[in-house]
Order: sequence, then structure tokens, then C-alpha cells
Amino acid sequence: MSKKYKGKRCVYCQDNPSINQGDHVFARGLFLEIERHNPIKVPACDECNNKKSSIEHYLASFGGRHSGAEETLNSLVPTRLKKKS
Ligand SMILES: [Zn+2]
Repeated sequence: MSKKYKGKRCVYCQDNPSINQGDHVFARGLFLEIERHNPIKVPACDECNNKKSSIEHYLASFGGRHSGAEETLNSLVPTRLKKKS
């Protein structure tokens, strides 16, 4: 495993040292596996990486923890995907 980011300053809190593998700026979970090559990464500490990961999961699941998440996904997303811009 690369230690490219180890010990560098976290870009989010600008305080703590980075974890070894860094953070994917755009969550890998937002892309198909075949589109996950060469992702942009930055130094990030464990605490910031974990907080960001939680937010990314919430975003990727359309707030999957609330009762209307599935309906939101099924009713709004197809309409949005049909729009050209
Ligand atoms: Zn941090």
C-alpha cells in the first residue's frame, strides 16, 4: 500500500496528519466499478475521512435512513435522468 499521504496535513481540518491511503475526493461508491480508475485523492485524517464517508453514504443512498428515501429514489431520479441538462 502506498504511503504517499502518510503524515501529510489533512486537507479538510488542516490540523491532523493524514491516514496512509488518503481520501477519494469523489466517493468511489458514486461510480460504476469500471469508472473507478485513477481517482483523485487527497491527504485526510481518520476523523475527517470517516465523517465524509458517512455523508457520502447518505448521499449515495438518497438519505436511505428515512422512510421516504425509496420513494424519492424511484419517483424523482428517473425524471431527473431524462432531462438533458
Ligand atoms: Zn482532518
